[in-house]
Amino acid sequence: MKAVRFHGKEDIRIDTIPVPQVNKGQVKVKPIWCGICGSDLHEFLGGPGLCPTTPHPITGETVPLTFGHEFSGIVEEVADDVTEFKIGDRVCVQPIIYDGTCGACKAGYINCCYSNGFVGLSGWGGGLSEHIVLPKSCCYKLPDNVSLEVGALIEPLAVGWHAVELSPYKDNDSALVLGGGPIGLAVIQALKAKGCKNVIVSEVSSRRKDFARHFGADHILDPTKEDIVQRCRDLTDGWGVHVAYDCAGVQAAFKQGVLAVRARGTIVNIAIWEKDATITPNDFCFKERSYMGIATYEGGDFQLVLNAISEGRMNPEAMITKKIAFDEVVEGGFMELIRNKDNTVKILVQANKLE
Ligand SMILES: [Zn+2]
Repeated sequence: MKAVRFHGKEDIRIDTIPVPQVNKGQVKVKPIWCGICGSDLHEFLGGPGLCPTTPHPITGETVPLTFGHEFSGIVEEVADDVTEFKIGDRVCVQPIIYDGTCGACKAGYINCCYSNGFVGLSGWGGGLSEHIVLPKSCCYKLPDNVSLEVGALIEPLAVGWHAVELSPYKDNDSALVLGGGPIGLAVIQALKAKGCKNVIVSEVSSRRKDFARHFGADHILDPTKEDIVQRCRDLTDGWGVHVAYDCAGVQAAFKQGVLAVRARGTIVNIAIWEKDATITPNDFCFKERSYMGIATYEGGDFQLVLNAISEGRMNPEAMITKKIAFDEVVEGGFMELIRNKDNTVKILVQANKLE
């Protein structure tokens, strides 16, 4: 079968590899739509970083590895002991790989597993292939009114959902979202689905501002033209937002984000930083602000996102800015995202045609 595999920095190939076989507890899925993620891009440009170069503690695999962890597909085979799925089911895939034995896993925080990995980055195949075999626990059935295209968006949306869920955000709170890329847009949609009436977004790119507006941001600020801290105070009751979500991961935005948070408020980091940041502890101390980290999502978040979409509280289709064929993945996918980042939210690759 064909698979898009990452071999190393700026080296992605469409390889021919064996079709995986189904074992106990597993489901074989034919991927249909697969998104390209910022972390895929990061690996392509500067990796291997997330992708293991020594055997991954759980999968035992190393590069070259099949890419693709944001995907939907059709169940094409199930193991004898699997009763939860049947051939033809439409599913999306929760790609966390965890050992189930470390302290974090035992506490239920599989996203913080001390040996964790991801389908599509650490082994077990990926969505950019003709077939994939997964533990049944990775698969979530799509409601009838959720398309396979939208199914490929559940993974990034779950990141935003989890961030809002885990943060101290409460009804009627105000929120600042730093950055209007795919994850920033996911946070905006999660906040709106939960009824937030004061979502403030800080973003430079005009196209990304349009996306933020489309997904319901109440106020859009340009950090190159406006004083974000003062504007956030003006747009709240004079003392700043309750929660800020950092989806940008750059020093200047971080500093503004901290100062835009009110006393006893929280800044939530979702961004993956490319380098270390400078923190002024006094900014936290004098206003009793908190800083917290968010890593992907946990069991349950996928279903909550699927419910929100199925019930019409989230309409994420507009995140899909382009759909491309499997063979176009490098030029039309990775290179396009690099060249045209500000105008692109999600590019979906068609891994298989629907019959
Ligand atoms: Zn673990």
